[in-house]
Amino acid sequence: MTATTTPVPPAACDLAIVGAGLLGLATARELLRRQPGLKVAVIEREPDVAAHQSGHNSGVIHAGIYYKPGSLKAQLCVTGASELYAFCEQHAIDHERCGKLVVATDASELPRLDELERRGVANGVPGLRRLDAAGMAEIEPHVRGVAALHSPDTGIVDFPAVARALAGEVVAAGGTVTTGCAVEQLLEPAGGGVELVHAHGRTRARRAVVCAGAWADVLVPRGASRGGAAGGSAVGGGAVGGGAVPDVRIVPFRGAYRVLREPRAELVKALIYPVPDPELPFLGIHLTRGIDREVHVGPTALMVAARDAYRLSRIVPADVAATLRWPGTYRMVRRWWRTGFDELRHAFSTEAVAKSARRFIPEIQAEDLLPGPSGVRGQAVGRDGALIDDFVVSESAAALHVRNAPSPAATASLALARSIADRVERALG
Ligand SMILES: Cc1cc2nc3c(=O)[nH]c(=O)nc-3n(C[C@H](O)[C@H](O)[C@H](O)COP(=O)(O)OP(=O)(O)OC[C@H]3O[C@@H](n4cnc5c(N)ncnc54)[C@H](O)[C@@H]3O)c2cc1C
Repeated sequence: MTATTTPVPPAACDLAIVGAGLLGLATARELLRRQPGLKVAVIEREPDVAAHQSGHNSGVIHAGIYYKPGSLKAQLCVTGASELYAFCEQHAIDHERCGKLVVATDASELPRLDELERRGVANGVPGLRRLDAAGMAEIEPHVRGVAALHSPDTGIVDFPAVARALAGEVVAAGGTVTTGCAVEQLLEPAGGGVELVHAHGRTRARRAVVCAGAWADVLVPRGASRGGAAGGSAVGGGAVGGGAVPDVRIVPFRGAYRVLREPRAELVKALIYPVPDPELPFLGIHLTRGIDREVHVGPTALMVAARDAYRLSRIVPADVAATLRWPGTYRMVRRWWRTGFDELRHAFSTEAVAKSARRFIPEIQAEDLLPGPSGVRGQAVGRDGALIDDFVVSESAAALHVRNAPSPAATASLALARSIADRVERALG
């Protein structure tokens, strides 16, 4: 990695950040740019930065089409994408504005495609245009469908390289990044500030920001001066952008990819997506030619038994217990059991994945698909069983907690970091 890590976090600092994914690192960088000289310490459990979602995703710079106008996702994705492109240019990080098609495969999907177009225009997505079958064939000759949206501003990037560059900037600005150091507890003493108990001892800070991804609800403050709603934790305050904080827990959803083998990979030039179900925060099985030129088909969306279930067989009893203790889990399953069965089929049957991919590219067969990588989404689920769609950041006495940062939070990381930094600055005074 480009940044030199500090083996042990400092005993004291102004701001402690838990998690060296894209959000933790972008937040540290943003605050150091605003306040040079601020003592900022990033503490990460894994030996490297971007070890979880930030390094196990589709690698797509989303243009901002899908999101409900006015939502944080809508506000932060479009600006975040343009800032990310500029950051990649500045740091010579591999990226490409390759464009993407969202394809309606039959007339029944057209009303939803219309709605996506309306949202994309409302969100200010650059260059969005509607294509008929002939128009989409010019861009992706093997695609079949009745209509599509073309987003020329959607791109691909090496997100782990972005994280390494962010870590490099943090260190260059005088911050520290410590990897291989799990934060075990976050204490909010009555006298103010925050104390992080971690693998190398303790770090006191005036304020903390917890960007723990799929572990967002594990590290909750004890002894906080302000109570909150989240099941015994002391998390209260408002979501970024205002509004009430939903009572949420993380339920891990594994996203597995298959790789389209050569020479069949030539069937896909760039990015091909279905029209998604607007009720779900997942985008459906899509085809993405990554920055490494491999074509990935996926991801699946299967509820799993560990927050780091990169293998389907991985079980972490504490994660299973947390999922089963949460009333929202049962309400979600009751509502989405049919989708759950489809996802089980995608997880265990390559033919089921090939069938989904064949809706756009009829040539794809199961034997063209090889096992590929996987990621695990830290998806917040409400007490009522709702899959929380928007970004959520809540506040306890001396800490901000990123409670839900699903896709497109990697794209939006620089912009989301700015909203988090605004709140940290207000709190630091
Ligand atoms: C399958 C999949 C596909 C996706 N595709 C895209 C995409 O194409 N484009 C896009 O924009 N977004 C995508 N996303 C979403 C995106 O990856 C995430 O929104 C983003 O990476 C979140 O970053 P983060 O920093 O919040 O979380 P993470 O990257 O998960 O980082 C959290 C970090 O906190 C650390 N941590 C947790 N607990 C502790 C602790 N107690 N002590 C110390 N460290 C701790 C973890 O080790 C981890 O490194 C995808 C996600 C998945 C899973």
